[in-house]
Amino acid sequence: MQLRIRNRMTFSYLLLIFISMSVLGLALLWPLQNYFINHIKVELFNNTELVSNIMRPYIIEENYQPIDKLSKELGNRIGTRITIIKKDGKVVGDSDYDIRRMENHAGRLEVKEALAGKRGSATRYSTTLDIDTMYVAIPLESHGEILAIVRLALPLTEINKTLFNLKMILFTGILLASTVAVLVSLRLAKTITEPIEEISNTANKISNGDLEQKIFLRSQDELGELAAAINNMTAALKQEILEVKSSKQRLEAVLNHMVSGVLVLSNRGIIQGINVEAERMFGTKEKNVLGKPYQGILRNYGLQEKIEKVIKEKQVYSHEFTTIYPEKLTLKAHIAPIIQNGQIEQIVIVFHDITSLRQLEKIKTDFVANASHELRTPVAAIKGFAETLLDGAMEEKKLRERFIGIIDKEADRLIRLINDLLDLSSLEAKETEIEKQPTDVGQLLKDCITSLNNKAKERDIQITTDIPDNLPKVIANPDMLMQAFINLLDNAIKYTNLGGEVEVGAVVNDGYLMIKFKDTGIGIPKEDLPRIFERFYRVDKARSRDVGGTGLGLSIVKHIMEQHKGYIYVQSEVGKGSTFWLTLPL
Ligand code: ADP
Repeated sequence: MQLRIRNRMTFSYLLLIFISMSVLGLALLWPLQNYFINHIKVELFNNTELVSNIMRPYIIEENYQPIDKLSKELGNRIGTRITIIKKDGKVVGDSDYDIRRMENHAGRLEVKEALAGKRGSATRYSTTLDIDTMYVAIPLESHGEILAIVRLALPLTEINKTLFNLKMILFTGILLASTVAVLVSLRLAKTITEPIEEISNTANKISNGDLEQKIFLRSQDELGELAAAINNMTAALKQEILEVKSSKQRLEAVLNHMVSGVLVLSNRGIIQGINVEAERMFGTKEKNVLGKPYQGILRNYGLQEKIEKVIKEKQVYSHEFTTIYPEKLTLKAHIAPIIQNGQIEQIVIVFHDITSLRQLEKIKTDFVANASHELRTPVAAIKGFAETLLDGAMEEKKLRERFIGIIDKEADRLIRLINDLLDLSSLEAKETEIEKQPTDVGQLLKDCITSLNNKAKERDIQITTDIPDNLPKVIANPDMLMQAFINLLDNAIKYTNLGGEVEVGAVVNDGYLMIKFKDTGIGIPKEDLPRIFERFYRVDKARSRDVGGTGLGLSIVKHIMEQHKGYIYVQSEVGKGSTFWLTLPL
């Protein structure tokens, strides 16, 4: 562009100068040429008069002899051809030619005019001279009678030469002026195009995103104003972009730290945005789904139907569905249209992961079902035996004693069950506010063994201990810990055959106090190990019931450990025995 402006300006200037100089030159040349020719003509006439005066006496006397010689002398001296013609047209003297060979000159235009008594002149091609020539002729009169014609001729080469010189001067003038014009216009164009070039270069860099660019122009003219305007615009743009960027970053940060998945679709269902959580939920990456139809990642038919419904009805809808890949999740989707000027611009889908909520709900309903079932069994037994007794069995002493024994046992079971349930619910209720104090775990373990000693003896089970005296105290709730210990030791005794062994130990390891309950009992099959901490889960229902189990003991222990930021884990082999470990942070 800069080149074009420069060329255009130079060319315009050149044309202007050239045309004006040419017009001026021609306008000057024309009158100059006329003036010049007239001047020569006048001079020629004057000379003709002089020559006429010199020739006069000879003509009057009709002494033509010396005229030719005189003509040659004079012609030589004034550098002009002189011809003397008698009125009959005969040439009697000529400075340049032999008069004997010359034809009659009466027919020449200038001679004709002179013969008519006027001053004759003509410019024509001279066959004798082989050149354009100017002729002037005057009559030589005596007493009003024309005696002869005196003619002077000047070859136009001289005139042409002078005119050529004049034209050359003019041409040189035009050339010089044009050159100056070119130089001046180039210089001028440069002063205009250079700042434009600077502005356009910088503007290009700015449009390529380099907002640090500034235009430095010192000129106070319109270009200076333009540069200042561009600088202001860039600064405003930079500010605006910074704000947009930071608000985009804020939005991205919010989206990516949300626990919900977010998916943004165009009104045609093309994915325009996905946050980190949605990437996780659908096992994908932003770069793989951007610009693609949503059906690629949302394969659930019901959900697709709802999305289409949102597009059609411009209303918010929700849909609950489960995913299989990359993991099994229950998701609740809220699909909302973003409407602008009555048209759907985008669709935002927010996914809430309600997997654990649904699992919890299931656990709760399962728990209620299990608890009612567990409670009904002893109640049914009590009711059944009581009815049988009332129906007459009361009369037989043996039956009566046996049935009342059963009723007593079932009532005990009911009490245990209710106690365990109450423990569990109070543990859940007190999740955050249990009272803790420095607790001597060694002493607790010893008390626990003492309280279950009789039960162990009944089963002929020997309890050994490995509890160091200098155990550090643990910040814990002693009642809860005691309950956990009793549950574990009780299990160890219950699930160990008569004559077996149980070992209770404690040891400090890596910032933890580790407590173990090891038995030589029946052991737990590998496939049941992950489930024994669930409520009401029992490996062998009949055996558990036989030994007075409720299926809640281990889940109570697990709860207690969680509230002490501790862990419980188990190693077991069927037929050989089990070891339960508790770890408590010191
Ligand atoms: P329960 O009241 O039935 O004992 P728990 O929650 O205490 O309920 O234990 C769940 C199940 O784990 C028991 O029914 C039993 O099958 C198994 N179990 C627990 N402790 C032991 C153990 N020391 N040896 C073998 N099996 C055990």
